[in-house]
Amino acid sequence: MHRIYLDNNATTPVLPEVFEAMRSYFGEQFGNASSIHHHGQQTRAAVEDARESVAALLGCRASEIVFTSGGTEADNLAIAGLVGAGDHVITSSVEHHAVLLACKHLEDIGAEVTVLPVDGRSLVDPADVRRALRPNTKLISVMMANNETGVLQPVEEIGKIAAEAGVCFHTDAVQSAAKVAIDVTRIGCQLLSISGHKIHAPQGVGALYVRKGTRLQPLFYGGRHERSRRAGTENVPGIVGLGKAAKIAKEALDCGDDQKMAAARDRLQQGILAQVEDAGVNGDGAARVPNTANIHFDHIDGEAMVIALDLKGLAVSTGAACSSGAIEPSHVLVAMGLRTDQARASIRFSLGKQTVAEDIDIALALVPETVARLRELSPKYTKHAVSTER
Ligand code: PLP
Repeated sequence: MHRIYLDNNATTPVLPEVFEAMRSYFGEQFGNASSIHHHGQQTRAAVEDARESVAALLGCRASEIVFTSGGTEADNLAIAGLVGAGDHVITSSVEHHAVLLACKHLEDIGAEVTVLPVDGRSLVDPADVRRALRPNTKLISVMMANNETGVLQPVEEIGKIAAEAGVCFHTDAVQSAAKVAIDVTRIGCQLLSISGHKIHAPQGVGALYVRKGTRLQPLFYGGRHERSRRAGTENVPGIVGLGKAAKIAKEALDCGDDQKMAAARDRLQQGILAQVEDAGVNGDGAARVPNTANIHFDHIDGEAMVIALDLKGLAVSTGAACSSGAIEPSHVLVAMGLRTDQARASIRFSLGKQTVAEDIDIALALVPETVARLRELSPKYTKHAVSTER
């Protein structure tokens, strides 16, 4: 069966060039990057080269990049590394669980947490951030792009508010890195998280940008790796892969590949909406990353739709991958004000670098026919159809 993968917000395939760049670090270039002999020097050079490439993608200095095991660790290091008992942190209701549950943990150990609401497009109001500030506010953590809707938050405005108040600003850029240009100075953040497997590098590697002078308590105790900010022998192949993926992403953004991605996403979105009644884009009207369309198809069950499409060879998602199979509807869609049934009837389509025009053509054929079939089976839709006829 020809399989089409439109679930790139869950994870992306490693690009062949990225895999090639990593290959020798599983074999002949095996040294511990902390060793002073030849083998260690080889891998140390590769790690530092990767650090330069990641820094170039984010617009910072190489020394401000801390490699981690992924986005979750980067988020936890940013939040738990900065906030302690008695401190106050401001975040939003649509954050990834890596942020929300890190904040919840801090609350359990005596920190104060304000979780800001969002509007119908899933946007945080910067005025709410300003109003939430307290004398003991230590950190504001608001994501750059949402993993479910792709909606971009007004991070530059929030960064200005944080700077005026002298409060640290962390943004989770796991879903925006490589999709939109990032400049940490323009955002005005002290901390920014990225993850390898969302940008066509391998799973299990990520990075946290830590602005020079920002003091973080490490999560792990051990060696003095990563300038004592993250103990543990470096994952050299993963870091090399992340560096290569960052370099490719930067070149692609400089060439305007994001515009091409947005055009493909818009064709998919518009094509679906033109063929399917009672459907709409979640987060419509807000700026979004170019690869994501989250659509609610009323009167269907999202999980049933994912399974039906998968049987036809199209991989999509009902929301965050880590909450798939959960009975609760997406906390993001509920926070935006969707009814529970609409949240459960929402499907996320997310494109990647490997997505071709033919994939979109096939999706445009499969999605409407699958929605129609599921609605035929849905008693609710029959009732709806009858009631609208009257
Ligand atoms: N933050 C966001 C917005 C995400 O989408 C994800 C993963 O889905 C993470 C953090 C966690 O990243 P990782 O899977 O690398 O731990």
